[in-house]
Amino acid sequence: MSDASIQKHEKVFAAPKIDAEGRENLIGLSLQELIDLLQSYQIPAFRAKQVWHWIYQRGVKSFDDMGNIPKDMKVFFKERFSLGRPVVETEQRSKDGTIKWLLKLNDGQMVETVFIPESDRGTLCVSSQIGCTLTCKFCHTGTQALVRNLGAHEILQQIMHARDVLGEWPSTAAKDGGREFTNIVMMGMGEPLYNYQNVSKALKICMDVEGLSISKRRITLSTSGVVPLIEKCGEELNVNLAISLHACNDELRSEIMPINKKYPLESLMQACRSYPLDKRRKITFEYVMLKGVNDSDADAHNLATLLGDIPAKVNLIPFNEWPGSGFVCSDMDRIEKFAKILRDKGLDSPIRKTRGDDILAACGQLKSASQRFKREKEQPELDK
Ligand code: SAH
Ligand code: SF4
Repeated sequence: MSDASIQKHEKVFAAPKIDAEGRENLIGLSLQELIDLLQSYQIPAFRAKQVWHWIYQRGVKSFDDMGNIPKDMKVFFKERFSLGRPVVETEQRSKDGTIKWLLKLNDGQMVETVFIPESDRGTLCVSSQIGCTLTCKFCHTGTQALVRNLGAHEILQQIMHARDVLGEWPSTAAKDGGREFTNIVMMGMGEPLYNYQNVSKALKICMDVEGLSISKRRITLSTSGVVPLIEKCGEELNVNLAISLHACNDELRSEIMPINKKYPLESLMQACRSYPLDKRRKITFEYVMLKGVNDSDADAHNLATLLGDIPAKVNLIPFNEWPGSGFVCSDMDRIEKFAKILRDKGLDSPIRKTRGDDILAACGQLKSASQRFKREKEQPELDK
């Protein structure tokens, strides 16, 4: 996809930034954009820096709470701008501690965000789009047409909302440890690299030590394999990369993940080889275990061969079944055998534990755009 085509795609599905009262949300502006915006009202740059600090370091939701901002300026800000969070439509808490929020955005669209606590970390699974243009056969999100991209502000709002609920402001305290929410995975609804502009803007603010101050080592972007943007992501963000691989030959991968027809395995593996990694980092390859489809011994051997010279880790994901998918999950002993073949070849290959089972919070089950957006006919091809 050319740069022009990516921009066109992002424009068609752009997110509204203005709330019902006509106020612009300041969340999602880079510091420079905030400086420029306030300077257009003759407000000096140091004020923009103060506001930025209140938004991302302290997590305030109201201009009234910005201690060092003069009263009349607060009034001015309140008339024009907002710092609002999405409205929580539902919150579900699983027995295992997983929390799933359905968040209502300015225009009434819904997005899902999932928090998964573990003993040594807490991971927030963040969405990048409402629906998805891609149609991976095993993925429930893939049955929904793309409604629109999320704006940078909406991606950040999911993260800031989690901090609100978990009481984890200010951002600087992250360095002291003792936090529940430590990691971000861009593995919710949507393909993050088909909304690259907003995703990269949001992640830059996340990684900024003056922003949300979350280290790039703690952020993972998962992609179905949008090859031209993997390189850009490496150069500009260099967060951890996860590739949804799921098959190790072009024939099968094109069948279950149509994006493979556009960016076949050879180009995908080449993009992975070129991804900038320091010594200890690896690329994660996600592999959903589909009974009788991609789970044979031969598949495991071929997978190890395919990943041969790439610093790789394989995440084996038991398929989360949903009605009408036409797939079933491989048996556990098959998954274990598959994992053992990979391990014997020197590949780290953990089997992912399914979390939030009782609240349908697992990968591929997010479906907030509701049934009415169910894909009835193919969407126009946008990824050309
Ligand atoms: N669009 C991106 C990120 C979102 S999907 C991507 O495809 O990578 C997050 C992960 O969940 C992907 O690896 C995806 O392949 C996987 N997934 C989708 N449906 C699933 C299902 N039903 N069971 C298990 N994993 C699934
Ligand atoms: Fe979209 Fe990822 Fe689901 Fe494929 S697996 S349909 S890219 S969300």
